[in-house]
Amino acid sequence: MKRLFCLVSIVFASLPGVSQSQSDSGNPPYKNSALPVEQRVQDLLSRMTLQEKVAMLAGANWMSTVPNARLGIPSIKMADGPLGIRSWAGPSAETGPMAAKLQVKTTAFPAGVAMAATWDTDLVQSQGQAIGQEVKALGRDMILGPTVNINRTPLWGRNFEGYGEDPYLAGRLAVAYIKGVQSEGVIATVKHFAANNQEFERHRINAIVDERALQEIYFPAFKAAVQEAGVWSVMSAYNKLNGVYCAENSMLLKDVLQKQWDFKGFVVSDWGSTYSTVNTVNAGMDVEMPGGDPMKNWLKKPKTLEAGNGGGWLVPEKVLPEVSAGKISPATIDDNVGRILRVIFLSGQFDKPHTATGEIDTPEQRAVARKAATEAIVLLKNAGDVLPLDAAKIHSIVVIGPNAAVAITGGGGSSKVTPKYSVAPLKGIQDRAGERFQVSYSLGATMEGDDPGKDTLQAREQLRNEAVKAAAKADAAIVVVGRSPKLESEDFDIKSLDLPAGQDELIEAVAKVNKNTIVVINAGGPVIMSKWIAQVPAVVDMWYGGQEGGNAIADVLFGDANPSGKLPVSFVKEWKDSPAYGHYPGEHLQVEYAEGIYVGYRYFDRQKVEPLFPFGYGLSYTKFDYSDLKVSPGEASSGTPVEVSLQVRNSGSRAGAEVVELYVHDGHASVDRPIQELKGFSRVTLAPGETKTVHLTLDRSATAFYSTAKKDWVTEPGQFDVLVGSSSRDIRMKGSFTPN
Ligand code: BGC
Repeated sequence: MKRLFCLVSIVFASLPGVSQSQSDSGNPPYKNSALPVEQRVQDLLSRMTLQEKVAMLAGANWMSTVPNARLGIPSIKMADGPLGIRSWAGPSAETGPMAAKLQVKTTAFPAGVAMAATWDTDLVQSQGQAIGQEVKALGRDMILGPTVNINRTPLWGRNFEGYGEDPYLAGRLAVAYIKGVQSEGVIATVKHFAANNQEFERHRINAIVDERALQEIYFPAFKAAVQEAGVWSVMSAYNKLNGVYCAENSMLLKDVLQKQWDFKGFVVSDWGSTYSTVNTVNAGMDVEMPGGDPMKNWLKKPKTLEAGNGGGWLVPEKVLPEVSAGKISPATIDDNVGRILRVIFLSGQFDKPHTATGEIDTPEQRAVARKAATEAIVLLKNAGDVLPLDAAKIHSIVVIGPNAAVAITGGGGSSKVTPKYSVAPLKGIQDRAGERFQVSYSLGATMEGDDPGKDTLQAREQLRNEAVKAAAKADAAIVVVGRSPKLESEDFDIKSLDLPAGQDELIEAVAKVNKNTIVVINAGGPVIMSKWIAQVPAVVDMWYGGQEGGNAIADVLFGDANPSGKLPVSFVKEWKDSPAYGHYPGEHLQVEYAEGIYVGYRYFDRQKVEPLFPFGYGLSYTKFDYSDLKVSPGEASSGTPVEVSLQVRNSGSRAGAEVVELYVHDGHASVDRPIQELKGFSRVTLAPGETKTVHLTLDRSATAFYSTAKKDWVTEPGQFDVLVGSSSRDIRMKGSFTPN
C-alpha cells in the first residue's frame, strides 16, 4: 500500500502544473536542497515568466547579476582576480556606491606567472582555496579568475596574470586553482576564452588562429578547466577570433565549449565585449557584463568608445523583441538562464548565501602567499656560487634599484590587489640580515614613467653615480630592477623587452665596481639581459611576488630557502628571436598567428634558436641526480596509461625541491609535430642525501595531436620517446613506449 502511494505521488508530481501547485503551498521543489540540481533548475525555470528569465541575461551593475525577489533567486556578486581579490580603491563613476564597499584589502598572492614558476599544483590549489575563503568573507560569490591565456608574445601586457607558454602546465595549474576556489562554494571563472594574447587593440583585433593551434595551444587549459575541474563559469574574450567576436562566436561557445567539452556552467562576457543581441544570445553567451546604470554611463564615455568596447545588447528591451520576432527561441533563453541557475544551485549559493562572515588575510592565507613567493623564485645564474650570501665572506651589502625599496606585488589592471601590508625587497633583506650584515641602500635609478618631469639625463647620472659609490664600498651589491604596474598592465602591451630606461646602465656601472653584483628581476616576464649578463655573477628572478615578495627574496639570497622555481616561459636573447616576431601586433586590426603550434620552446627547438634561458630552466643551491627510469608497459594498447617512474637524489648539502619535467617526443607522426612537449612534471622536496621515487602517468592525451582532417585527437602507432630532465634543454634520461 505504501509503495503504491509513492508511485502515485511520483506520477502526479511529474505532471505539469501538479507539482507546481502542490509545492506552491509549501516548499517548491527548487527550494529543496535534497533534490537533484537538474530537477531544481527545471522547476525554477517552469515558474519564471519570459520577462524574468530575460532579465537575468544582463548584469545588474558593475559586478553583480540581476536577482529575482519574487522567486528568491540571489544575485551573483562578483569580485575581480585572479591574483587575490581586487580592491576598487578610489572613487569610480562606474562602480558608484559599490566602490566604497570594494575598498577592501586582501591577500596579494604572487602573479600567475610566478605561481606557474612553482610548478606546485598543491600550492596553487591552496591559493585558490584561500582566495575562495576571502571572496566569501566579503560576502561575494564569484572570482574572475584564473587567467589561462598563453604567453604567445613576451610583450603581452597581461602575461604576468597567466601561467606561461605551455598549455599542459597552464592546464594543470588552472585545474588546481579552480578546485581550490570551488571547494569553498565560490564560482571560479576561467578567462579569457579565447586567443586573447595581446592588449594592443584588444577590443577590435581579429586573431587569425588555425584550428590545430587552437586545439593544441590555446584551448587545452580551458578544456582542462571545464572537464577536469568542472569550472562553473567561463569568460569570453574581448577580441575577435577568426573574424567573429568571441562573445558571439558559436564555434567557440556552442561547438567547442558546450558540445565538445560538455560545459554545463555559464559564460560571462568580458566587461564591454558584446556587439549584438541575436548572435550573442544564440551563441550561448549567458551573462552580459557590466549592466545597469554603471554600464550605461561607462558606454557614453569617449574613452570607452574610443577603446572599442561594446555593451548593453542583452538588456530586456533588446532581447524580448527578438524573441517575439522568432530570432531567439524560448528554448535558447531557457538553456542560457538554466546555466546561470544551475551554477547558483551547484555552488550552494542558493541554499547557503555568503554572508560576509569569515576572515581575510589570516595567518594561514599569509603563509600560502609567503610559501608561493619563495617557491616561485628562479635562480638564473650563479657563477662561482656567489649565492647564497656567505656571512664568512660578505659583511656589507648595498641594495640598489628602482624596485628595491618599493613592494611591486603585481602588474596593473583588473588583477591589482591592495594588500594590508607588503614587504619590499630592501625591507625583507634588512630584516633577515639583522646584525650579521651591514645593509645600505641607494636608489640608483627611478622607475621610468613614475615621475617623468624629474627623470632627466642629468638626474639619472647623479643617481647612478651615488649607487656606484655605495657599491664600490660594499662586499656585495643587490640590484633590484624590473617593471612597474604603470609599464606592465592590462590595457596596453609592454613597450619593449629591454629593462626600462636607465636600468641596464645602472647594472653595468655597478658591476664594474663590485664583483659580487647580484641582479634581482622583479617583473612579470622576460627582460633582455644581453648588455650585462656576462658582467654579473648572479641573476635571480622573483617575478611579481605578491605581498611577501621581499621576505621571499631574502629567504633565497641568504640561503634559508633553496631556489627551486623553474621558468614557465622561455627567456629570449633578443625580441627578434620570439616566435611571434613579425606577426605581432598585426596590421589593419588583424593579427595572424603565423607560427601556428610553434609557440615558446616548441619554436626554439624547431628553429634551433638558442634562448637565453630555456623553458623549465632554474638553478639550485643543491644538486639532484636522476636514475632508474622505468616506463611501463613498454608496449600498450592505445589508451592504456603508461606509468613512468624514476629516482631523484639530492646529492648536495642543502635541502631543496627539484621539479622533474617529462617531455614526449613523437618521431614517426604523419604530421609535423613539435620536437618535444611537456606531458608531466612533479615537484619533489628532498633533504640532503635523500632519494625519492617520482611517479608520473601518461594518458592518451600525452601522445595525441589534433588532426584537422579527422577533427579529432589522434595517436598514431609507433614509438614515443619519454624525455625526463631538469629543464627542456637539460634532459637527463630517455625511455620509450609503443602504443599499438
Ligand atoms: C578584464 C577582465 C576583468 C574585467 C572586470 C576586463 O577589463 O579583461 O579580466 O575580469 O575587466 O574587471
